[in-house]
Amino acid sequence: MIQTLKTFFGYDNFRPLQKDIIQNLMDKKDALVLMPTGGGKSICYQLPALLCEGTAIVVSPLISLMKDQVEALRANGIQAGALNSNNDETENANLRRACILGKLKLLYISPERLMSEVDSLFQDIQISIFAIDEAHCISQWGHDFRPEYAQMGILRQKFPTIPIIALTATADKITREDIIRQLHLNNPPIFISSFDRPNLSLTVKRGYQQKEKSKAILEFINKHQGENGIIYCMSRSKTETVAQMLQKNGINSGVYHAGLSAQQRNNTQSDFINDRIQVVCATVAFGMGIDKSNVRWVMHYNMPKSIESFYQEIGRAGRDGLPGDTILFYSISDLILLTKFANDSGQQAINLEKLQRMQQYAESDICRRRILLSYFGETIEKDCGNCDVCKNPPERFDGSIIVQKALSAIARAEQQVGTKMLVDILRGTPTPEVVEKGYNQLKTFGAGRDVPPRDWYDYLLQMLQMGYFEVLYNENNHLKVTEAGKNVLFGRERAMLVVIRREEFVSSRKRGKTPIIKELPLDLPATKDKDLFEALRLLRKKLADEQAIPAYIVLSDKVLHLLSIEKPRSITDFGNISGIGEYKKERYGKYFLKVINEYCQ
Ligand code: ADP
Ligand code: ZN
Repeated sequence: MIQTLKTFFGYDNFRPLQKDIIQNLMDKKDALVLMPTGGGKSICYQLPALLCEGTAIVVSPLISLMKDQVEALRANGIQAGALNSNNDETENANLRRACILGKLKLLYISPERLMSEVDSLFQDIQISIFAIDEAHCISQWGHDFRPEYAQMGILRQKFPTIPIIALTATADKITREDIIRQLHLNNPPIFISSFDRPNLSLTVKRGYQQKEKSKAILEFINKHQGENGIIYCMSRSKTETVAQMLQKNGINSGVYHAGLSAQQRNNTQSDFINDRIQVVCATVAFGMGIDKSNVRWVMHYNMPKSIESFYQEIGRAGRDGLPGDTILFYSISDLILLTKFANDSGQQAINLEKLQRMQQYAESDICRRRILLSYFGETIEKDCGNCDVCKNPPERFDGSIIVQKALSAIARAEQQVGTKMLVDILRGTPTPEVVEKGYNQLKTFGAGRDVPPRDWYDYLLQMLQMGYFEVLYNENNHLKVTEAGKNVLFGRERAMLVVIRREEFVSSRKRGKTPIIKELPLDLPATKDKDLFEALRLLRKKLADEQAIPAYIVLSDKVLHLLSIEKPRSITDFGNISGIGEYKKERYGKYFLKVINEYCQ
């Protein structure tokens, strides 16, 4: 097993659980595997496929996913193909023939296609294993339910002796049971690996209004020059405005949401995968098909509605194990809107509960990774050191006067105002609405002029968290002072607020001018040879373009990194770099060695 891992994938060791999972499959037993995105699921069935006779059938829900996997396998010299409706008939016919001749180690297939092949192709070939990728799609409880997945129970019936492995990155208890039941898995062990992704930094920015968000985003992207990232937005129109804003500022970006045609969506996706655009502004519709390993950051323009969605989305950063940065913008208006959605949804109780857990993450003043992992039922021994709370623990101050001003303005406006109007009153901004209602005559009009609007939004969010007022969702989101609020308002209790820090985006790593090479908090030593890294990156891009495959499939960012540190001078040393198998060694070694040699001279 280790030998095959090294030869084909270039890795020296298995990650936790991989070996057990593979052994279980080699023993012809079923299994359910839960690993986070980037955890290393693919090898769990790809390696057995190489070791067993015949062809492994891999069911995958999206053509783009199949394409990516097949390209990656072929780049490692493994015979693989994807049978799907995108191919022309000759291509599909060739694939079938290769399977029948036993020449294909892995065949990727969509679930609908699978159903039509069960009684034809599958009867003519030797099947080694079935792997069901993104297995949560089988369950109505999951968020990506696919009706076609529901018919796959037939596999066990038709092929009782061939082991089935189901893999997913998201599955709560109900979904897990659903997968096992519907696929008729035979008393399978459930392999659950840790969901921790220590290479992802976690940051929350609270209380930003649109303008500051734009500034902050630009600054952030400037620090990630040349690095790919995704910005998730709540609405389709938002994705468009953010992309325009970036475009205007010279940042190459695309848009992805369900309102676009399939063609437009494909274009964005392929531009992103092939590094033709730096940023994708997207709704939650963007993601499952993204196996791109060098996404270096993920930003949430708006807060997601649950931790599951959030974790899935940030998981798309740093799949190669190198650092990835994640940033969430959290604002009171988002919270109000999301609460409204949850209230209006068919499953109010569940959705409110999910939103609250998400809110806990955003508002945490303990290590944020603890909150995430505890959601998945895990605990960590010590604080992570890679989230903003760990790096910059919050400080509090006596904010009673600030709170009193806000609460008094709410009370004087007879609890008939929402947050925006309240900030206008506090700031003394005579907007038409303010004047029309006569709020400019209130004693508190302009009482909070000394606090900038964005800080007001932040403080209001804090006051809401502390329960000093509530939002009347059924009454135009008007604010109402609570009993706890009255205690502060009438001076019976003090209110401790968190100090707002505005030193924008001090990133987890100090960077030089070319930010591609990073200080690595993980298992890699840092390198100073940024020029070498850049030269290797250019070479990689050239080789990728020649073959019309994405750059990260030629070699991952991590491998480039190791090359720029180790500087191998011989083919053997080149092949010893983790992530370079025999095939890549033979194919690319000489080109990379040439660049390294030139650099070293
Ligand atoms: P998943 O499908 O779980 O999202 P992948 O299978 O794509 O994750 O693996 C994520 C990354 O980790 C890939 O770049 C893969 O090559 C790498 N990887 C997997 N197993 C190992 C291993 N044993 N050692 C080093 N890297 C690994
Ligand atoms: Zn932390």
